[in-house]
Amino acid sequence: MVRDRFAPSPTGDVHIGSLRTALYNYLFAKKNSGTFLLRLEDTDRTRLKEGAVDTLLDALYETGVIPDEGLVLADGEISQKGDKGPYIQSERLPIYQEYIQKLIDSGDAYYCFCTKERLDEVRQKQKENGETPRYDGHCRNLSREEAEKRIEAGEPYVVRLKLPEGKDISFDDAVRGHVTINTSDLDDQVLIKADGFPTYHFAVVVDDHLMDVSHVIRGEEWLPSTPKHVYLYDLFGWKQPTYVHLPNILNKDHKKLSKRQGDVSVADFIKKGYLPEALINYLALLGWSPKDDQEIFSLEELVNAFDLERLNNSGAVFDPEKLNWFNAHYIKALGNEEMKAQMKPFLSQAEISLTEEELDKLVPIVRERIEYFSQVPEIVEEMRVSDFTPEGEEVKEILTAPQTPILRKALIEKFSALDSFEPSDIQGVFKEIQKEHKKDKIRGKMLYMPARIMLTGVMHGPDLGAILSFIGKDEALRRLERAEAFTGTD
Ligand code: GLU
Repeated sequence: MVRDRFAPSPTGDVHIGSLRTALYNYLFAKKNSGTFLLRLEDTDRTRLKEGAVDTLLDALYETGVIPDEGLVLADGEISQKGDKGPYIQSERLPIYQEYIQKLIDSGDAYYCFCTKERLDEVRQKQKENGETPRYDGHCRNLSREEAEKRIEAGEPYVVRLKLPEGKDISFDDAVRGHVTINTSDLDDQVLIKADGFPTYHFAVVVDDHLMDVSHVIRGEEWLPSTPKHVYLYDLFGWKQPTYVHLPNILNKDHKKLSKRQGDVSVADFIKKGYLPEALINYLALLGWSPKDDQEIFSLEELVNAFDLERLNNSGAVFDPEKLNWFNAHYIKALGNEEMKAQMKPFLSQAEISLTEEELDKLVPIVRERIEYFSQVPEIVEEMRVSDFTPEGEEVKEILTAPQTPILRKALIEKFSALDSFEPSDIQGVFKEIQKEHKKDKIRGKMLYMPARIMLTGVMHGPDLGAILSFIGKDEALRRLERAEAFTGTD
């Protein structure tokens, strides 16, 4: 029975790398009719951020990566589901206490009273001698009696793992293959901190075991810690989970993707108007590749196609343009009502208020043009600029061509006569003019180009009929009148 988990710390925004980890766990669990758990790893009390749990659940629920067990949303409220809880580590302290006691009793963990000052000093000296800084084992051989006396006297302490010296620890990773690390390269890891909370390394092992986790799918930054985890499984006589360490997401210069390079959090992308389907589709392919070259996948299709064998074993480069390509694809497929619903918050943010009719007219223009929805206000503003001065050699050439003033008059005359000003009516006008002005050579480029320049100031843009219908007949006529200043006379 597959049981896997996403186990984030509530430290703030959800990085897209975290969403990818959650997604792969979700896909793997669903593919195998298993269970996907969400556990909160909040034992580092110094890094907690208020609101982080809400942000986390929002990111998962918005993108459809919904946990079956553990921390869930029920009727919009955060709650815990399942019989292996609590699923919040800070609510599990007595459990960690019970298990650390076993290790202390068996001599596999020990109390350590070293102060921060002493540890800093040791590290400093090791650095000066060119050694890798690590705990020097000062308290490793304190007798239990002495340790207990010092605890009773109120001395602060931590509990450390007593790693055997010079021992190879090996495990198999689904992505990295067989990994071996010698304990001489590892520290006597702190398992319980001075505040009584477990460290991540201890809590993760106890919880993964007690929650029956079969597969640990997580970021590769945890690979170097895994031998410590594996050693703890062995000490307790527990069965190891299958480890799957996912390669990092990199930016273009192949460094780990971080906030300094721009948007990295799920909320950033949602705020900018990326669709959850597009984010999920793109992230799925950022570290995993399907059997064929299919690129567009729904979440359901991903579940069917996903496997651990096709995970990449080197870092995946995050390409914002490719993400834009996916997003534009999903935007093109949206229905009119969905388009309007997506556009509205961005328009009101920019204080642009439009009638339903105007919104309807905006939809086809936007659908073809944007890569994400926060680009919408700009498009509207662009279309609304009416005091433009056409610029550039070619533009001027077209405006002063002999056909242009004739076209201008014809457009004014025909637009004025229209009762309805839909894109199709406007198209009709252009067709008529072309037919009626064969002798004036108003056709092809010398029809649409001068019209577009007179009406928008530039040579290229969205469908002219759609723009004109959006700005309305009066505004179109006003612009044509005004264009007299730029065109030659007939
Ligand atoms: N709390 C760890 C993190 O935030 C979880 C790592 C793991 O999955 O074991 O990355």
